[in-house]
Parts: sequence; C-alpha cells; structure tokens
Amino acid sequence: MSNYTGGCQCGYIRYRLSEEPSSPHFCHCRMCQRSAGAPVVAWAHFPVSSLKYEGSEPSLYRSSENTQRGFCPKCGSSICVVDDGDELLCITLATLDRPEAVTPAYDSHLESSLPWMHWQSRNR
Ligand SMILES: [Zn+2]
Ligand SMILES: [Zn+2]
Repeated sequence: MSNYTGGCQCGYIRYRLSEEPSSPHFCHCRMCQRSAGAPVVAWAHFPVSSLKYEGSEPSLYRSSENTQRGFCPKCGSSICVVDDGDELLCITLATLDRPEAVTPAYDSHLESSLPWMHWQSRNR
C-alpha cells in the first residue's frame, strides 16, 4: 500500500493518501495563481476515497460553480481542489512531506503562464 503524507505549513492540517497519484502536472491558471499567491501550482490527482485527514479538515472555498478549494483555516496553505461529484481530487504536491516523490509531467493552462517564469532558462 502506498503512503503519501503531508500537511499545511502550521501543522493544523495533516493528511494521508493510501493510493498512487495520477496526472501530476503544473497548473498556470489564474485561479491557482490567486489562491496560492504563486505563479504556478504543482498538483496530482488522487482518489477521494484514498484521502484521510488526521484530525482537522481544511476549510473549503467555492472558487467556481462546481469546484471547491481546501485550505488551512489557520495558516492559509492551499491543500486540495475538489470538483463536486468527482471520484478524484487534486492535492498540492508542495504540501507532501516528500514532494520530490511525485514529478509533474505536463503543464496546463499555459496561456496564463507569466512571461517572467522563464527567467531560469535565460540565466543558465
Ligand atoms: Zn496550517
Ligand atoms: Zn489551475
């Protein structure tokens, strides 16, 4: 059984995932940018049924008609995105205890990617 654990910055939210991720990716959409306060967010899908919170659960913000975003009510860390009725949810890879264990494989919503995100390739 796989075991991915993670949590928010302050430790109020702790979670465990008992199945393997799918579709790890970077999302450059404006909603991810605004909710995380970051130019890009790395996500992976996990089955909703594989997610267990160890204690407190995230607060939910309905960011669009069918989508809710879960975050820590104490420190604000962005934890998950859940679509109504979906069997999969998205988890922020950066909140995993071992974020290096899952490698994003593609980019989504590149139309919103910020031009200065490419400074690394310029400076190498
Ligand atoms: Zn927190
Ligand atoms: Zn997004």
